[in-house]
Amino acid sequence: MTRILSVTSECVPLVKTGGLADVAGALPGALAPLGHEMRTLLPGYPSVMKALKKPKVVVEDDDLFGGPARVLSTKLGGLALFILDAPHLFDRAGTPYLDINGSDFPDNPERFAALSWVAMQIARDGADGWMPELVHAHDWQAGFAPYYLKTNGVDVPSVLTIHNIAFHGLAPGDRLTSLRLDPADFGEQGFEYWGQIGALKAGLQFATALTTVSPTYARELTTPEFGMGLDGVLRTRAADLTGILNGIDLEVWDPKTDPAIVTYKTARGKGRAKARLRKEFGLPDADGPLAIVVSRLSHQKGLDLLLEALPAFVDRGGQLALLGSGDKAMEAAFVKAAAQHANVAVRIGYDEALSHRMMAGADAILVPSRFEPCGLTQLYGLRYGTIPLVAATGGLADTVIHASPMAMRSGVATGIQVSPLTAHALASALMQLIDMFKDVDAWAMLQSNAMRQSVGWEASAAEYAALYDRLTDSA
Ligand code: ADP
Repeated sequence: MTRILSVTSECVPLVKTGGLADVAGALPGALAPLGHEMRTLLPGYPSVMKALKKPKVVVEDDDLFGGPARVLSTKLGGLALFILDAPHLFDRAGTPYLDINGSDFPDNPERFAALSWVAMQIARDGADGWMPELVHAHDWQAGFAPYYLKTNGVDVPSVLTIHNIAFHGLAPGDRLTSLRLDPADFGEQGFEYWGQIGALKAGLQFATALTTVSPTYARELTTPEFGMGLDGVLRTRAADLTGILNGIDLEVWDPKTDPAIVTYKTARGKGRAKARLRKEFGLPDADGPLAIVVSRLSHQKGLDLLLEALPAFVDRGGQLALLGSGDKAMEAAFVKAAAQHANVAVRIGYDEALSHRMMAGADAILVPSRFEPCGLTQLYGLRYGTIPLVAATGGLADTVIHASPMAMRSGVATGIQVSPLTAHALASALMQLIDMFKDVDAWAMLQSNAMRQSVGWEASAAEYAALYDRLTDSA
């Protein structure tokens, strides 16, 4: 059994702005049956403090980056938590990272350096009678944790997981003292990033091992196209970098119990849910496949390419229902496409219940992302027999088995991959989708293959456990 301290700025069900929160919330429960005990260190944002029940004070510090702080130990929703109660850093309105006007808090580097510092203290001194044997840091917010372990002589291995390489956690170069950093490490081999201090860079340089959320993305990250300026560092550490896929919550996304499809038993049960979905979106009955998109509307997601490919798809009898929000120009472009084509319908907004009804009723889900560390909606699609059509990148490439002639003949295909990703290639893939949908037997096989994939946390947790064992030599 290994004791692991997970250090994160977000954790479901307490606080979430992205996929990191899902991973941090799911891992402890998935690791427990494998004999690993994970406790989670999380900042005491106002919403978190409000949710705590009878916390115990386990560490006190008079001066944590400019004010007094305490670590509280508590259990909540199956999680064993250490909450960093530091009002001068975390008792603020806004999101975990932004003030109420949507601007970054100017002291974000110090706020999360403090979180990383406390992780080091817990690894060094223990807390609540508990000593971690390994520290698992997530993204830039915990990037200094591996560094502080090293500079304070704490001999505990660390893992840094990259969920989002776009955020580097940069601070001006003159903040070395306030961030408790050694000027000797302010260089290319340390945490310096083009004259600034980089929290993510610190983690990448000093963690014992690095992971990201899919094997393909792990390889892609070492290239200039995907590495967002950190590919050089990642190339030097390529031997220590692995990809471990995210899972989904099989209880939340369960086609057998989802209220969106109460009568659902097999892929054939889609009929009714599809009729309801068409009605809800004001789409006519049709013989062609009903495809959906549930996504942020951003350049990353490649939906501008879908707009280009759309006329060919609807001309051949395809239908599209899209739920999304984000980029205003793209929102307007999809609203316009819906006005032009009877077989296109669009909802601008964020609506989880509707996303379930869409996954339940649709034939296919489209995910033409330019990059995608792991991706979740294609996994929901697999589980619901909603065939994913995806770009062959990152976790999309790793989770969808392309319907090549051989994969169809051997009966293993689960969807369609597009590569290289262009509007033209996407249009051809949509044509393939229409043709396969017409072939009732082929489609039934795709659906049953898709629904048989294991998309929960079990396999991924075993990979994390194997990594922890390797680093702590306790296999
Ligand atoms: P990313 O984290 O890059 O946005 P993922 O596929 O990893 O992409 O995760 C996105 C999550 O957000 C999924 O759970 C998806 O269902 C959900 N989501 C995205 N947009 C919407 C929306 N407009 N309404 C409901 N759920 C959404």
